[in-house]
Amino acid sequence: MDQKEKEILKEKILKEIEKSEADLIEIAKMTQPVKPENSLGRISRMDAINNKSVMEAAQRSKKAKLSKLKMALQNIDNEDFGLCANCGNSIQAKRLMFLPESTKCVRCAAR
Ligand SMILES: [Zn+2]
Repeated sequence: MDQKEKEILKEKILKEIEKSEADLIEIAKMTQPVKPENSLGRISRMDAINNKSVMEAAQRSKKAKLSKLKMALQNIDNEDFGLCANCGNSIQAKRLMFLPESTKCVRCAAR
């Protein structure tokens, strides 16, 4: 990955970080505790609880992605950025553009 590609990737990572942070704020709003006294009725309350666990799962994966993105941004100027953490081959630029947080090449990630 050359310098120019890295600059483009940096922009992209920054945008994704921004977006993930905005999403997390939205998700946090939706994972407020379900109040027992709300007048939704029993079935709606079950729905609300189910939604809550879906949202919490989404929240966890977003947070994990966000920390990976931040790590990628920190490491992008390192010489070994873009090398597969598993086999040491360089990760395709195309793959990094699509998934900037990837630390493995396509072959290792598919394993
Ligand atoms: Zn690899």
